[in-house]
Amino acid sequence: MTDYDTVSADVEHEEEIPEDHPRYQDLLTRHRIEQGVEKGITHLQGMHAEGRGSAFDYLLGEETIPSADEAERAAAAHLLLADRPVLSINGNVAALVPGEMVELADAVGADLEVNLFNRTPERIEAIADHLREHGAEDVKGLEADARIPNLDHQRAKVDADGIHAADVVVVPLEDGDRAEALEAMGKTEIVIDLNPLSRSPRIAEVPIVDNIIRAVPNVTGHARDLAEAEEAELRTILESFDREAALEEAERRIRDGEL
Ligand code: ATP
Repeated sequence: MTDYDTVSADVEHEEEIPEDHPRYQDLLTRHRIEQGVEKGITHLQGMHAEGRGSAFDYLLGEETIPSADEAERAAAAHLLLADRPVLSINGNVAALVPGEMVELADAVGADLEVNLFNRTPERIEAIADHLREHGAEDVKGLEADARIPNLDHQRAKVDADGIHAADVVVVPLEDGDRAEALEAMGKTEIVIDLNPLSRSPRIAEVPIVDNIIRAVPNVTGHARDLAEAEEAELRTILESFDREAALEEAERRIRDGEL
C-alpha cells in the first residue's frame, strides 16, 4: 500500500489532502460534496451525480482540454454581452464552487439564483447562507414568484426578476428537462457538464465539458481578460465558437484519450 492509498475519503479538512496526490482534484471534489451533504446544502443524489462526473473527468485526464477552454472564453464573452445574466446554483455547485461563483458573478455583473431539483425551504436557506458566507451580497431564488413553462411545479420555480427575466443563464450540472425548458423560453444557456452526451450540454449554446472546479475560475479569468474588449471583439469570439466541434472533441478525448 502506498502513502496515497492511505488518504482516507473522510478527511476532516481539505488541507489534509496532499496536493501532489495523483487524484487530488477528485479527492477534493468528493470531500466538498460530502461536506455539502453534512451541512444540508447538497442532496444525497448529488453524490451520485458527482460519481458520474468523476468517471468522465478521469477519462479526460482531469484537465481542461483546449476545446473546453475555448468554450469557457465564449461563455465569458456571452456573459459580458448579456443584459441580464444569471448564474444558477444547485446543491452540488454550492458545495463545490461557492466562492468561485461569487467571483464570476462580480466579474460579469451577474445575479446568483438558487435553483434546486429537490427543493425544500431549509436547503434553499442553507445554500443562500453558504453563498453569503462566501461573499455573496444578494442571492435570488428565495421568492420563487415565477414559473418556467412546461415543467412540473417544484422544478419550475424561479424568481421573476432572476432566471425568468434573464437573457443568458449559466446552468452547471443541470438536468436535461429543465435545460430544455429554459431553451424553449429563449434563454442563451451556458452549461457546464462533464458528460458531452448528456442532454443539457447538447442543447446549450455553449457546452463546457470540464470539471466545474476548473471551469468557473477559468471563465472568470477570461472575463477579466476581456473586460475592456470592444463589443465587436466579443461578438467575433461568439461567432468563431463551434459548439458541435466542442462536443465532438470532448467525446473523442473521452473515448480515445490516452491516460
Ligand atoms: P440529463 O438529464 O441531462 O441527461 P443526467 O441524468 O445525465 O442529465 P444528472 O445525474 O442529473 O445528469 O447530473 C449530473 C451531471 O453532472 C452528469 O452529467 C455529470 O457528468 C455532471 N457532473 C457531475 N459532477 C460534475 C463536476 N464536478 N463538474 C462538471 N460536471 C459534473
